[in-house]
Amino acid sequence: MTDGPSNRPETSLDPDRFEKNAALAAAWAAEYWRTLEDRPVAPPTRPGDVLERLPRYAPESGEPFERVLGDLTDLIAPNTLHWQHPGFFGYFPCNTSEPAVLADLITSAMGNQGMLWQTAPAANELERRLLDQMAHAIGLPEGFRSDAPSGGGVIQPTASDATLAALVAARRRVFDRHPDARSDDLTLYTSDQAHSSVVKAAMIAGLARHADDRSQLRLIPARNTGGPDHGSLDADALRSAVADDVRAGKVPTFVTATLGTTATGAFDDLAGIAGVLGDGPAAPRPWLHVDAAWAGAALICPEHRAMLAGVEAADSFCFNPHKWLLTTFDCNLFWTQDRGTLVDAMSITPSYLRSEASESGEVFDYRDWGVPLGRRARALKLWFVLRFFGLGAMRRFIRGHVAMAESLQRRIEAHPRLALSCPRSLALVCLHATGPTLQDEDRLTDAVAARVNASGYAYVTPAKILTPSGPRRTIRVSIGAVATEPRHVERLVGTLSGAVNALT
Ligand code: PLP
Repeated sequence: MTDGPSNRPETSLDPDRFEKNAALAAAWAAEYWRTLEDRPVAPPTRPGDVLERLPRYAPESGEPFERVLGDLTDLIAPNTLHWQHPGFFGYFPCNTSEPAVLADLITSAMGNQGMLWQTAPAANELERRLLDQMAHAIGLPEGFRSDAPSGGGVIQPTASDATLAALVAARRRVFDRHPDARSDDLTLYTSDQAHSSVVKAAMIAGLARHADDRSQLRLIPARNTGGPDHGSLDADALRSAVADDVRAGKVPTFVTATLGTTATGAFDDLAGIAGVLGDGPAAPRPWLHVDAAWAGAALICPEHRAMLAGVEAADSFCFNPHKWLLTTFDCNLFWTQDRGTLVDAMSITPSYLRSEASESGEVFDYRDWGVPLGRRARALKLWFVLRFFGLGAMRRFIRGHVAMAESLQRRIEAHPRLALSCPRSLALVCLHATGPTLQDEDRLTDAVAARVNASGYAYVTPAKILTPSGPRRTIRVSIGAVATEPRHVERLVGTLSGAVNALT
């Protein structure tokens, strides 16, 4: 830190010093983006490499900002997996963008604390309005909007937080209607392809003692057809699991459906699930939560909305603009059609948090919509993103990635040594190397993935997925980085081909 004016403590906010250092930080970030493509996507870092170069004790005196930036250049950037690299095809994307970065800067500069409407009125109402705008933009029914009698949305940090909030609300609804129910009687359902955050939510809520505890959590086997419904929850199996539990005196409480599973991008059939819950013997109807963490971004394009059929029956729905919608981590949009239950489940008001606005019932106090009391004004970055790009450019962004995935699919279908492992979903393509036996294919596929990741040009995720001929190793190629262009996908095909040829 450079010295502040002599008559003030060096920790005071110094606008001139800030302006100068902010320009240096912006220049650093711009140069990072400029040079991304020249860096290897994955660093050669080994565990402990960074740790051993960091001092054991915090500095006693401040240092010039330039020196901190120097260490960013020498120590942090070279040991980072570059998620914004155009050759990043791993996991799911984690987008960043100019307006989101700038909004984060301003949010931090303002340093507001949005626990109640009263503590940050503008950020609070911006968040409420944006969630309504986004509900409209992705085609959610009216019941999820804040002007509906019991709807509304909130920004949660992550999809994992959203699932936990939904589960806690589901439990509250059961206890409201069955005050004598015991926690041990509540049962939860999701597919065996759902994200691990569902199991984790059950563990946190005390409904699973450990990750393998299935005494209350049912993981329903997904369909294994190899066709368009491959990997989606089997509604008939859900029906019989719910019926068995009701017969055994259990209280079916919570169902999580996934739109865009993590392994293969499969879509659960919401209408089929809603049919099971609507006409089933369980009363009250279990809470239906929809986790569209990744795929939800594609809903801004009307041509991808078929997956929403049946969503009217959902109690809550979420997706992550921080994955594939240009909004820097973290930003999960979470809507409910039963905000009364959600708020009852989370609300506890000590005297110092009472306010006239809250008592009036006219405002949303978002501390009652999730775990944290204190809240960062995350709405600002989504607002900047929407206003900077507009939905039109955002649709072109999604469509561009889907088109690149279609072209990759065609290249793999025509390839002599590579094949698709399951149908493409939006911008996710799963592929494997071909060989004489499944074991050969698995070995080769992992070796190809390792070679691609060591190339520095591209980064993919090796994984194991379900197929009709048994579990197999696959390479997940998830197209969605902001910088990725068709030429980077071409280079990936070349790198994959080079790897498979070199290994056989
Ligand atoms: N749900 C699905 C389907 C996911 O793919 C993921 C992460 O990839 C998550 C939930 C967890 O997301 P988050 O990191 O926002 O908790």
